[in-house]
Amino acid sequence: MRACRFVVIALVTLFTCAGAPNAAAGTRPRNIILFIGDGMGFGEVELAALQQPPVADAPANPAAPVPPLFCFERFPVAGTLSNRSANSLVTDSAAAATALACGAKTNNGTLGLAPDGTRLESMAELAKKHGKAVGIVSSVGFDHATPAGFYAHSASRDSYEAIVEQALTCKTYDVLFGGGVCATSMAPALMRTRAEAAGLAYFDTTNFKDITPAATAGKAVLGAFDANNNDLLDFLSDRTPECPEPRLADVATKAVDLLLARENGKGFFLMVEGGAIDWACHGNNAKQMCGDVREFDRAIAAVLAQLAAAGQLEDTLIVVTADHETGGLVVVGPYGKPLAPGQEAEIKWSTGGHSAMFVPLYATGPEAARLANRHDNAELGRLLKTLLTP
Ligand SMILES: [Zn+2]
Repeated sequence: MRACRFVVIALVTLFTCAGAPNAAAGTRPRNIILFIGDGMGFGEVELAALQQPPVADAPANPAAPVPPLFCFERFPVAGTLSNRSANSLVTDSAAAATALACGAKTNNGTLGLAPDGTRLESMAELAKKHGKAVGIVSSVGFDHATPAGFYAHSASRDSYEAIVEQALTCKTYDVLFGGGVCATSMAPALMRTRAEAAGLAYFDTTNFKDITPAATAGKAVLGAFDANNNDLLDFLSDRTPECPEPRLADVATKAVDLLLARENGKGFFLMVEGGAIDWACHGNNAKQMCGDVREFDRAIAAVLAQLAAAGQLEDTLIVVTADHETGGLVVVGPYGKPLAPGQEAEIKWSTGGHSAMFVPLYATGPEAARLANRHDNAELGRLLKTLLTP
């Protein structure tokens, strides 16, 4: 019953915002949210949509021309994003995060620095400079490449210890939440000690529910919500009912709660990464991938409903894209007959690494119309930085 009501709210929300971009064209969005499905190419979206369990109040119809759409596929603007890095046709997540966050190409492995080592300014840093509240959220470690691209500057994405130091001292964010910490030296107790010594409010799975605007007032908030030392919010497909870790939608809406309380009339910037999608694709694990694309979509729907309830949906530019595709996934069958309800589609993975394929780009809200058609990752980063500048 609760699930049904949630779906209805999400659908009402989406149909409400479908007309927003043109009405608001030419105005700066008050808030910008960038959702990044790490490794989420067209094949991933297609397969995850095909394999969605039927919605309770909308029974599967094998004759339907398209699979059930994700909420982000209902956004009024769609396009594609190319993602080569400065030194490679196939990008890694560090160069791709730098391009999206800073609006400039760099070499694979590099975070927040140009190929010549010049420091680049990320949109999170820019938004903070202009008085906006800033949040960075990921389903994998907060020191992993994609979230780090928004606050860290490092010649190597693998320098996890140094990246954690930057997370402790950078003052770029109001909220930084991840599905754990990748730096191996940072055991949970040490992480808490270090964060509190740095003046941050620190949270993990044991006190996730205590995160409130009042409990964290005046402090930057850092959270790592991994309870079983695998550096991620557990895959939906692998979760047991006892799993104490919050889900991506819980973490993202908690971040929005804090940002709405802190934005001081100036709005906020938030990046939310579905980071474990990429990890599933590296393992060519379709079940994990499909579940986490659904988790990513569920987080987007929850944030849309939250913004609508706060009266800020029409003022928020929401962009959903990927940093690159992982796995070279294609759906190849069945051929000659429809996919029966509950049947698994036939697929082929062509690599355990990333591919050079362009990725989907969806947008809704003020200025969303500028994201139609084909874009490049660094150019998208530059555009969003322009829109974050008063
Ligand atoms: Zn990857």
